[in-house]
Amino acid sequence: MTPLLSAHGITVRYGSLAALDGVDLRIEPGQRHGLIGPNGAGKTTLLDVLAGSTRAGGRVLLAGRDVTRLGPAARSRRGIGRIHQRPAVWSTLTVRENVLVAALPRAVRPGRWHPSARRRAAERTADALLTRVGLEEIAALPAGQLAHGQRRQVEIAMGLAGRPRLLLLDEPAAGLSAVEVAWLGEFLRTLPRAVGVLLVEHRLDLVYALCDTVTVLRDGRTLATGSPARIRASGPVREAYAEGVA
Ligand code: ATP
Repeated sequence: MTPLLSAHGITVRYGSLAALDGVDLRIEPGQRHGLIGPNGAGKTTLLDVLAGSTRAGGRVLLAGRDVTRLGPAARSRRGIGRIHQRPAVWSTLTVRENVLVAALPRAVRPGRWHPSARRRAAERTADALLTRVGLEEIAALPAGQLAHGQRRQVEIAMGLAGRPRLLLLDEPAAGLSAVEVAWLGEFLRTLPRAVGVLLVEHRLDLVYALCDTVTVLRDGRTLATGSPARIRASGPVREAYAEGVA
């Protein structure tokens, strides 16, 4: 089967530091893949490379198509969605407007749709997503007034509004309360399998509960890839992790 995503020999250098040094990654359709490792291992850099916001050596293929030379907007149109480490919402727009802005580009049917029909389609998508993430009652509030956990929910709705085939999540549980982490885990579990997931997260309980496969990075290299049970039992992985997680 053609993988949903395959990355080959990904290398990123900052001066003498190799943030990533020949990393390979393969995500099958419908797979939920965890990416873990100590601080500075290269996890966020790898998400940046896959999303197209950091240039790298190597190749990235999405569903068999080479997207290596495409920038973030083109990769987003082809189905790579991204949830950032710090929720990136427009604070002066309302919650609903934020999700609507994210839904509009994918509501385009060039040559066929009138702009008002396109807007109505985006509104339907946005409203359905706001209900799904439980924000419908505060949809009219400016996003700048929300608490961190609610901003995270808005960004998840925005990420899904682009109808991704692959969702890249960068430490979505960071800064969330225990109740919010439980909500997040349950929400991610209910995502349709048509959406592949690459989850960077220091909350290993969340990663092991959600993901089918886990890759461990250390010092810009792949230390191990395998099932959560295998990774959890691996001595070298435990040692690498003990070296440093903030
Ligand atoms: P964390 O778990 O702390 O978020 P990470 O695994 O996501 O860490 P990265 O943020 O990808 O790690 O960083 C990998 C390495 O690259 C680190 O040593 C970091 O200091 C370095 N690095 C990242 N971005 C830059 C940059 N723009 N310029 C120089 N060095 C960078």
